Amino acid sequence: MITVRSLLDDAWYDRYQKICNLNIRSSIYDVTNTCNLRCKGCFFFSSDEHLTGEATDVSAWKAFVDAEIERGVNLAILIGGEPTLHLDRVAAFFKRLPTFCATNGLIKVPRDRFPQMMVGISLWGDAGTEKSLRGKDAFAVSSKNYAGDPYTYYLYTITSQQLGRVETMVRRIRDIGVKVHFQLLSNDEGADGFSWSPAQLAEVRGEMDDLLERYPDTVISSRYYHEVLTTGTMLGRRFGWQECPSVSETHDTRKPQPRRLIRFRRWAADLSTTHRCCTSATRDCATCKDGAAHMSWVMVNKRAHIRTARDLQNWIEVYEMFAKLYRFIPW
Ligand code: SF4
Ligand code: SF4
Repeated sequence: MITVRSLLDDAWYDRYQKICNLNIRSSIYDVTNTCNLRCKGCFFFSSDEHLTGEATDVSAWKAFVDAEIERGVNLAILIGGEPTLHLDRVAAFFKRLPTFCATNGLIKVPRDRFPQMMVGISLWGDAGTEKSLRGKDAFAVSSKNYAGDPYTYYLYTITSQQLGRVETMVRRIRDIGVKVHFQLLSNDEGADGFSWSPAQLAEVRGEMDDLLERYPDTVISSRYYHEVLTTGTMLGRRFGWQECPSVSETHDTRKPQPRRLIRFRRWAADLSTTHRCCTSATRDCATCKDGAAHMSWVMVNKRAHIRTARDLQNWIEVYEMFAKLYRFIPW
């Protein structure tokens, strides 16, 4: 019988043991429906998910987080809107749970109040691309706010316009002593020239692989993640609605149920609505390039990877990548 132990040598088995019992139960929270930017292609605004209303009493947020802990959540992923516009709500999570805060980086999270909270800063490209898609060179501000911060990484959403030029920003991120992780733009608002062709996806895969190899101390990623994300396939299966692990349990009527994130929900800022999934309900699953959903797709399918040594090592590398991004293990 093929077992994990039979496929791995001692070094790989040691790596496997460091991650196999983490038992992470995450959910995602829209902290607010407002933002200090309005990026073209932002799934949150393009899908009208910001129209739910929001709870404003911080005691309601505290009680809500306590209920989430009761529900079994052990990792809170804060998005929005821009969470740092409401640090009292962020604190309601951080004081109770391991917390990750996604931000555009324009407002600095005060480290005296939030020591060791993981911060992921959204980045959409070089200054020209950021100005064209986000109306502002956000990196110019965020890089000053977070230079040298050991609990911060950039979540670099690569667009097809960045092909051949991703290194520019990777180098700038390395130079300020921060890490970077990649995902791909899904172009929810159909911005002209920002959709992916198959040839461009193959090209960006090669570019991400190359950068991972040449900047191993800066890029938090894995070749297998690049493969799955750019091809939309894993072990001969195609990513999409029927396979997606990141569907809120409250919306999951799929039969048969695929392997999925246990108890996962994405909550709106009114603290009572749940959204369909980790991105927008209006996104076409057939062209979804959400990095976290693809990463989770690999992670929840461990059993399918207990097949060959290479398959299982691929699974371990993706799980390690996730665990590093949320600092369950060191960078
Ligand atoms: S910063 Fe984030 S939440 Fe705000 S508009 Fe841009 S993508 Fe949307
Ligand atoms: S849009 Fe993407 S993340 Fe959402 S359900 Fe579809 S495949 Fe999953």
